[in-house]
Amino acid sequence: MKIFGIGRNYAAHIEELNNERPTEPVIFTMPDTALLIRNRPFYYPTFSDDIHHEVEIVLKISKVGKNIDEKFAHTYYNEIGIGIDFTARDLQQKAKEKGLPWAIAKGFNDAAPISEFVPKDSLDLNNLNFSLTVDGETRQHGNTKLMLFSFDYIISYLSKFFLLKKGDLIYTGTPKGVGPVTIGNRLEAFLEDKKMLHVDIK
Ligand code: MG
Repeated sequence: MKIFGIGRNYAAHIEELNNERPTEPVIFTMPDTALLIRNRPFYYPTFSDDIHHEVEIVLKISKVGKNIDEKFAHTYYNEIGIGIDFTARDLQQKAKEKGLPWAIAKGFNDAAPISEFVPKDSLDLNNLNFSLTVDGETRQHGNTKLMLFSFDYIISYLSKFFLLKKGDLIYTGTPKGVGPVTIGNRLEAFLEDKKMLHVDIK
């Protein structure tokens, strides 16, 4: 099972980190050991002093495919969930300055909390609100209509390089409002008004 992350998919988030707007999706991968399931707590790692939350919509691939045409991409996933792409911003910043990969900054143990998945059929995927609270205060709010690259485009693009398989996950990028977490925080993630996930920082 593969896990993909998309960087810089919301313009306002690109601006808050002073990044360049991409002409194609920015792709990174995470190992399956990054997943944090069933609302388990997140233990603040010793190798970073600046772990940031990034709330994201996550697609679950439902069948095998490669070189998928964008117009058929919607048939390759049936369910979506909410995830948090925890990022060691200090390690990522060092990597960015040197032009080095983000593997440890993004893919460390438990870096990718994931909710249960819900069927996509009842949802308007092009106008979907999602949000993150920290200790009850809203820190991030996004809407999929603000994405630079659509779900279908992302699937089509990824499938040029990677054989997509059933169960693969795609974290589709974070809206603005990313910020640090500290021990004792409770993060809660919502799809529209439905609470999908919580993570306690320990
Ligand atoms: Mg992210």
